[in-house]
Amino acid sequence: MSKMVKKIDHIGVAVENLNEAMKLYSESLGLEIEGTEEVKEQKVKVAFIPVGESRIELIESIDPNGIIAKFIERRGEGIHHIALEVDHIEDALKKLKERGVQLIDEKPRIGAHKMKIAFLHPKSTKGVLLELCEKQE
Ligand code: ZN
Repeated sequence: MSKMVKKIDHIGVAVENLNEAMKLYSESLGLEIEGTEEVKEQKVKVAFIPVGESRIELIESIDPNGIIAKFIERRGEGIHHIALEVDHIEDALKKLKERGVQLIDEKPRIGAHKMKIAFLHPKSTKGVLLELCEKQE
């Protein structure tokens, strides 16, 4: 079987206040913030923080009815998803579907950093929301 997943691209963390969270990661943990970005389509503001070959993605909702706001309302702040980098996201989605994995996104959409992203349903991934992402040059 050819290798579908390259690495953990990032871990998404839902936070109430992005500035406060960035302060924690930069001042207390000594990490460098790569930059912030608003992803209007998903109603979030994100900050990426490189950690070795992976990153932490801090996510704040910019809409009280957005997915991240609802998540924090239900579960509090914390890990929201794990993102796996793949070479060909369409192929990966097709294979996963054939293998019986339930998809949230049948087709990739554009996320932060203009990456193609798609989510798998936590019901079929042991309660973990997995995101697939493919970098576009
Ligand atoms: Zn993500």
